[in-house]
Amino acid sequence: MTDQEFRAVYPLLAGWIQETLAEHASAARPVASLGFRRLPRYYDEKTLASAKVVLVTKVPVPPLSAMGLGRFADFEQMDAGGTTYLDTYFVRADQSHSESLHFHELVHVIQWRLLGPEKFLALYADGLERFGYRKSPLERMAFSLQKRFEREAQPFSVEAVCQSLMREMVSHGDSPAPLDGP
Ligand SMILES: [Zn+2]
Repeated sequence: MTDQEFRAVYPLLAGWIQETLAEHASAARPVASLGFRRLPRYYDEKTLASAKVVLVTKVPVPPLSAMGLGRFADFEQMDAGGTTYLDTYFVRADQSHSESLHFHELVHVIQWRLLGPEKFLALYADGLERFGYRKSPLERMAFSLQKRFEREAQPFSVEAVCQSLMREMVSHGDSPAPLDGP
């Protein structure tokens, strides 16, 4: 995706996200209220108190094809178990008891926070286009940390790990142009 193309679509995406979050605001509750036992060993209290969850039957995805991004149609139709916009994530109700899924979406909450919305979306779209969903850099990071969460008992600070992985990603030139901006 060219920088110019991203600039054109970004306001549409940002507007859609704002609307979607407003629409679900009354159903959003803090992750901390769900009472998961292990998450507090990986995320600080402030994150768990401020990040919000919305349970849905189908996670909302922006109308990418209608926005002129027909090449992301597969992603648009994926029917994922969860998805994250800013500090709020949506989880399919049938998977709402999976602590591991909440862990994964919280990685994205941290990524959104560290990158800011514009860089997050630019990096996400670029990764999706170049590597596909599962291998896009931000998803790879979330899936590999999730695997550690599932397989290892030893807790770690997700925020600290994300910060250093993100630095590495940028220094390896794996990022789209907007990340190199001012
Ligand atoms: Zn993900």
